[in-house]
Amino acid sequence: MPLTPAKCTNCGAALELDPSKDAAVCPYCHTPFVVEKAINNYMGGGDSADAIIAQGDNWLNSFGDTAQAFLCYRQATEKFPLDYRGWRGLLMVELRVTMVLQDDKVEERRPAVSMYSRQALALAPASEKPAIQKARRDYFQRLYQVLEKERDSIQRELEDTERQAAITNSKSLRWQLPELREKLQEAQFRLEFIGQEL
Ligand SMILES: [Zn+2]
Repeated sequence: MPLTPAKCTNCGAALELDPSKDAAVCPYCHTPFVVEKAINNYMGGGDSADAIIAQGDNWLNSFGDTAQAFLCYRQATEKFPLDYRGWRGLLMVELRVTMVLQDDKVEERRPAVSMYSRQALALAPASEKPAIQKARRDYFQRLYQVLEKERDSIQRELEDTERQAAITNSKSLRWQLPELREKLQEAQFRLEFIGQEL
């Protein structure tokens, strides 16, 4: 059963619940509640955009809880899709998450970062755009560094293989060269592509 967004009826924490269950316990305030009521609390909750975004900012900036912040900002974008602050919040969560991600996971976040920053930039007042652009650029800078490292390691592998092939005159090593050159070219191409986003 896919999880449904909900909101704790006691403390207001954003939650993801299995709607086929009758009851659950809030992992934050440890209060038991009726699942249906918590889902209704999310859907029909009368919270203003200001209140939801303030909750998200609090989770992100005071507690560093990116999962809770994500759920609040997502609720903001669902209920108030024209308010740029929800999209900006989702972008900030992505940025925070990406900074501690393993190198090989950074590129997977690109579609989300692109979408959140596009929405936020389209809706934000001019005075807020520079900060959003900076967050977006920070992500692409991290991605650029990851791809640069990858390119350099392929380059080294190619040079080593060329050297070994020349010394040993090994046929099997020489056969690896075209494939490595192709890999290098591809890595260079990806790097230049991302470089245009900086
Ligand atoms: Zn709670």
